[in-house]
Amino acid sequence: MKIAEGNELLLIRYGELGLKGKNKSQFIKRLAQNARAQLRGVPGTQVHSSWGRLWVETADAPLAIARLKQVFGIYSLSPVISVEKDIDQIADAAYKVLKKALPNGGTFKVESRRADKTFPITSPELSRTVAGRLFARLGDDYDADMRNPQQMLNIEIRAEGAFVFCETSPCAGGLPVGCSGKAVVLLSGGIDSPVATWMAMRRGVVVEAIHFHSFPFTSEQSKDKVVTLGKMLAQWHGAPIRLHVVHFTEIQRAIYANCSEEYGITIMRRMMFRIAERIAKQRRAMAIYTGESVGQVASQTLESMDTINAVVDMPVLRPLVAMDKEWIIKYAQEIGTFETSILPFEDCCTVFLPKYPKIHPKREEAEELEKNLDIEALITEALEKTEVMLLK
Ligand code: ATP
Ligand code: MG
Repeated sequence: MKIAEGNELLLIRYGELGLKGKNKSQFIKRLAQNARAQLRGVPGTQVHSSWGRLWVETADAPLAIARLKQVFGIYSLSPVISVEKDIDQIADAAYKVLKKALPNGGTFKVESRRADKTFPITSPELSRTVAGRLFARLGDDYDADMRNPQQMLNIEIRAEGAFVFCETSPCAGGLPVGCSGKAVVLLSGGIDSPVATWMAMRRGVVVEAIHFHSFPFTSEQSKDKVVTLGKMLAQWHGAPIRLHVVHFTEIQRAIYANCSEEYGITIMRRMMFRIAERIAKQRRAMAIYTGESVGQVASQTLESMDTINAVVDMPVLRPLVAMDKEWIIKYAQEIGTFETSILPFEDCCTVFLPKYPKIHPKREEAEELEKNLDIEALITEALEKTEVMLLK
């Protein structure tokens, strides 16, 4: 494969896409498109798609790799040296690659794959020949180890050429964003919902975020925090994330004034879901994602989920449902949202927090209490005052 002088070549692997049968080519197209979007501005960079593989040619490999690690659908990547299908050139490239990966000596193993069967040498033979050439040049600090080598050296013979590499870095996995339709996510400023958003995107879902803001009970800073989180998540989205900031103050006031305190959280969350469903339908989104996990807080018991879910007619997906807080925190740290999430700004849920929230709320009781509210008018007003931003 020909690349520009001085550029490096990255081999991109996608795992699960292979399972998608007829849709496969569309998935690959999407992946290439997302990779291109993510690599915009990286000098000398081009994405090539050929023979069921993606290749990235770049003048700034470290930056390109960092960006590609935020592209869902990529399972791993390797910086490769591309040469002619010629044994001298392959052995020479192998020497360079191995010297770079193991500069001070150590054990290695050569492994070859011959996707192009017209190449006259079999894989085991090629490995042996290249290993022989390496020993002739490397000196005593290097040794072969077939069982437990410090370093694998890989050779792939493909239609486009021969490729030699040592390193394989794991990437984000999942499916390319845009392969699985659109959903809305309820994004608070907490630890959980950014992780839930990340997981939605990781399965190929395009997301729009909804945040409920109760100014002046919650500050401008708490909104800024959500904007910051949204921008971080947008880096994984491959495109700006649309954030709907819903003006929630009047709804919270009305609930506080007209419904019994112990049902405050339940009814507040029913209002959130109703509004989320309206926005989802307007925006042609097919599901609502939240950061809930069974048993974490009073509003996350099975009874609460039942009573809260009852007001919507669309799937409510909770990717964190089975996760302990410690696991969620680990993800948040890896994604990079944790430090922002723990900044101490109040959330609308905490403002009117009842002393004894109902842990096992009932649908019928919630419905009864809601008769004291003009639900339609409250929703309409909140939607009218919704502010929309594009986060990139
Ligand atoms: P998180 O860490 O995501 O805030 P949490 O453990 O604090 O979650 P809750 O505050 O009960 O739990 O919220 C449960 C879920 O409801 C959140 O994960 C989020 O999806 C949604 N949610 C809560 N508050 C808001 C808000 N102000 N705006 C949008 N969504 C919210
Ligand atoms: Mg919260």
